[in-house]
Amino acid sequence: MRSDRNDIAAPVTPSPADARTAMALLSAVVPVHNEAHGIAEFLLTLAAALRGLARDFEIIVVNDGSEDASGAEILRVSAQCHVLYLELSRNFGKEAALTAGLEAARGDGVVLIDADGQHPVSAIAEMVKLWRAGYQMVYGVRGPAAGESRLRRVARDAFYRLMNRASPVSLPPSAGDFRLLDRQVVAALLQLPERNRFMKGLYAWVGYRAVGFTFQTGGRASGRSSFRLRDLAELALTGITAFSSLPLRIASVAGVSLSIVSLLYGVYVVLEKLIHGQAIPGFATVAAAVFFLSGVQLIFLGIIGEYVGRVFTEVKRRPCYLLGRVVDSRVGGDPGSGAGAMDSSPLHGP
Ligand code: UDP
Ligand code: MG
Repeated sequence: MRSDRNDIAAPVTPSPADARTAMALLSAVVPVHNEAHGIAEFLLTLAAALRGLARDFEIIVVNDGSEDASGAEILRVSAQCHVLYLELSRNFGKEAALTAGLEAARGDGVVLIDADGQHPVSAIAEMVKLWRAGYQMVYGVRGPAAGESRLRRVARDAFYRLMNRASPVSLPPSAGDFRLLDRQVVAALLQLPERNRFMKGLYAWVGYRAVGFTFQTGGRASGRSSFRLRDLAELALTGITAFSSLPLRIASVAGVSLSIVSLLYGVYVVLEKLIHGQAIPGFATVAAAVFFLSGVQLIFLGIIGEYVGRVFTEVKRRPCYLLGRVVDSRVGGDPGSGAGAMDSSPLHGP
């Protein structure tokens, strides 16, 4: 465990030979779920920031089943912002939306950025600079978020600690989805066939020359977070079950330990009877032991169930998402290489 953890986590720094001159096409992927209020303004700001960082740019906006007017708002400014608009057939979740965007993006570098203004567009210039220096993945590390509840922060810290202990991948704490990925990293991510897409784990799993930088998040520009604590718990569970079999190991170890303890206790009871001639009285002890052990068994059945459930979703091989409408307003938009390329992707069929 230890050694492959080190293999995966080893930071790789670029050599001068890895440096690149300029970027031909820079893509930004923006997942959108009910952001009608600020999305148009955000896209205009983003387009202004991307212009000039590469010879050309494109914004892939993935409308992840918004129930508000997000779609109309996006299309209102799409021509000015070189937008490829992908509408999913329903809400598939942020991880699926990001996958859809990554499959459609054609850039040499792809920036993933939230639509709610919590990721500063001004940081993208710095990310591109690091890409030019030879890094293949530049990830944003959140400074303490204003207005984040204590419970959320404690839960998040606990999750990262657990993930880093329990799995061979090493997740930088507080690194989110705000990042710049090189074409090679995007290709690697799209090769990973899993349906349970815990992106933060996948970024760490693929490796490559990666570097972090700290940015400050403010509150959302408008609206409210789509993720409630329950969704985050679900995501954490996906992360742990996708990257670690430690919970199953704990079940085996606990089973073996309890068996040994109960065996020793059994021997003690028999000896007590043989030597002192008295059986230990106590219905209460027996009842408590039975309840306790049933509880332990149910917990571990539940843990196995979590894994079996995920195996079930994997073997069904359903696509991560389904596309509804696609509107390509990119300059020189070539339908053959954009939306068409997605149809042949392993994640999207059959
Ligand atoms: N989002 C999405 N699908 C979802 C939930 C969220 O595409 O089911 C988008 C959302 O529009 C935003 C980004 O993912 O651009 C981050 O969401 P949010 O701000 O709600 O999450 P938080 O910042 O609280 O992690
Ligand atoms: Mg947010």
